[in-house]
Amino acid sequence: MTTKLRREDILAAVEDAGHRLTGSRRAIFELLEGMEGGFSAEEINLALGGVGRATVYRTLRLLIKEGLLCKLFSDEGSPKYTVAKFGHHHHTICVSCGKVGEFRDSSVERLLKAVSADIEGTIVGHNLELYVNCSECIS
Ligand SMILES: [Zn+2]
Ligand SMILES: [Zn+2]
Ligand SMILES: [Zn+2]
Repeated sequence: MTTKLRREDILAAVEDAGHRLTGSRRAIFELLEGMEGGFSAEEINLALGGVGRATVYRTLRLLIKEGLLCKLFSDEGSPKYTVAKFGHHHHTICVSCGKVGEFRDSSVERLLKAVSADIEGTIVGHNLELYVNCSECIS
């Protein structure tokens, strides 16, 4: 059920959206693609050295906007970024090894819809992370 997008497909999608595929955009994407736990912006900055912090942040924002990257808010300080594998989804983050998983569950969406009746204003989005011990860390 997980259809992992191929890098070329993803990069083509960025181009289709009207963005130029600069070397630094490619480099950031390729770096994130190989990481199971994600990178913080600062780590990306260090790993790529010379790209420049402003470029890193701008590229991250762009890739998130295009739905190609996810921003994770674990409680370990700075947000981490990972490559998105499919549309709207939520995350599991292993508290032991940091591995990030994705899942979709329609009952979660229904629950959030039900909650909206008790919330003032209109919900425009949500972000759900489950902290787990992954199967590799348990065994
Ligand atoms: Zn994701
Ligand atoms: Zn783990
Ligand atoms: Zn959701």
